[in-house]
Amino acid sequence: MRNHATNTTFKASWKYSEAPESTDHIQIKKQYDLYIDGNFVKPVKGKYVDTINPSNDKKIAGVAEASAEDVDLAVKAARRAFKSWSNLSGRERGKYVFRIARLIQERAREFAVIESLDGGKPIRESRDIDIPLAANHFFYYAGWADKLAYAFPNRHPKPIGVAGQIIPWNFPLLMAAWKIAPALATGNTVVLKPAETTPLTALKLAEVIQQCGLPKGVVNIITGAGETGASIVNHPDVDKIAFTGSTEVGKYIQKATAGTHKKLTLELGGKGANIIFEDAAIDQAVEGIINAIFFNQGHVCCAGSRLFVQESAADLVIRKLKDRIDTLIIGDPLDKNTDIGAINSKKQLETIQNYIAIGLKEGAEIYQPKCTLPKTGNWCAPTLFLNVSQSHRIVQEEIFGPVLVIQTFRTIDEVIEKANNTPYGLSAGVWTQKGSKIFHLTQNLNAGVVWANTFNKFDPTSPFGGYKESGYGREGGLHGLKPYVKFD
Ligand code: ADP
Repeated sequence: MRNHATNTTFKASWKYSEAPESTDHIQIKKQYDLYIDGNFVKPVKGKYVDTINPSNDKKIAGVAEASAEDVDLAVKAARRAFKSWSNLSGRERGKYVFRIARLIQERAREFAVIESLDGGKPIRESRDIDIPLAANHFFYYAGWADKLAYAFPNRHPKPIGVAGQIIPWNFPLLMAAWKIAPALATGNTVVLKPAETTPLTALKLAEVIQQCGLPKGVVNIITGAGETGASIVNHPDVDKIAFTGSTEVGKYIQKATAGTHKKLTLELGGKGANIIFEDAAIDQAVEGIINAIFFNQGHVCCAGSRLFVQESAADLVIRKLKDRIDTLIIGDPLDKNTDIGAINSKKQLETIQNYIAIGLKEGAEIYQPKCTLPKTGNWCAPTLFLNVSQSHRIVQEEIFGPVLVIQTFRTIDEVIEKANNTPYGLSAGVWTQKGSKIFHLTQNLNAGVVWANTFNKFDPTSPFGGYKESGYGREGGLHGLKPYVKFD
């Protein structure tokens, strides 16, 4: 028994019975085609790749790989559909978008299970966060469809045209919603590509969209990897690219679209600072630290992956944090008790393990709970790194996994300087009882979103996006309409 100064000792000795979510009601096809012009069609080259369950390495389904010819067919369908879709009244467009929202709600359980099967995230998160938020995004933007004149008074907003949308694997359905909902509400048509490791909920969404009777060609969903994405980016008849993913690919897309007519928004990496002051409600802050870094296995661009604790509170916070991570449940993503699911892919697991090795080599002190990880699938224990400095690579670079680096600070000016010392600028968190401190920090931190006494809270009405190498453009809220309209 360890010696605790407070009596909040919480040993991880509880045994939970298994509580697996049922998969009986889930319909997954053996093979998925491309959704182009309102139909599921075979890829021109006939190539399919497997999508794998990252928690057990088993194949779930075969998924079409779109070639440049397929991308061309999808863009042509979107172009044909643009004329009538953009001329439809906002009220009529809104009806379709509301219909998509309602059908996601109706099939929420199915979406949640497939999201967890395909991507490895805990069912608790896909059920309570990803899917409801995706439906809410459609509801929210459906509401704007007939009110654009109020969103942009006296400016006569017009849709841009065909939007090419490329999304990552960490929030597959939610990212599809963030992209498709504002595009449709403003009268654009869409060619969307989900990430290669998590295509299934986007393909389910294609089924929902077909069921809604959305005019053919308005939304096209095509699957494939980086090359397919590049074909969308380089297609001459695409008017707008919306990309969420790594900073590396974002830079490539920025170069590829430079000098073209294409409008571009990028939502890229991050290395969010989570700042705990000595006057914070410490137990809540510890929960906030856990949520900031271990939500979705840390596969979150706005994760609070750099923790800054005021020196006077550091011993207490770190002790409570270690106690808390000892209790996290790692395992089957479909078990309702699970806190930390599977790492999304072998490639991402290697990246994370490589960073852990770099941290050790750089002399940082590691803490991981004693836990047994499942034998098959991709797993990583929650990891804390202490005794790190600003120059450590694990402090500077995005890891995109359940790895937290912990530093201390004494003054407000010091922590602002440290928090801003990063090429990124996506998110930050501040924990203090004092409102004036919160306002001071929110004004001085270079981050697109700053959470106060909470973290990783998302809402369709709030704009989200970055500064510096975290990208530009905003998604969500009134701001999220802007990248999809042009003015006379
Ligand atoms: P990660 O490195 O974390 O896998 P990526 O940025 O590579 O993230 O992936 C995000 C999305 O970008 C995925 O849908 C992926 O297929 C796509 N993608 C990857 N490379 C390119 C590229 N060169 N052009 C366009 N899209 C790409």
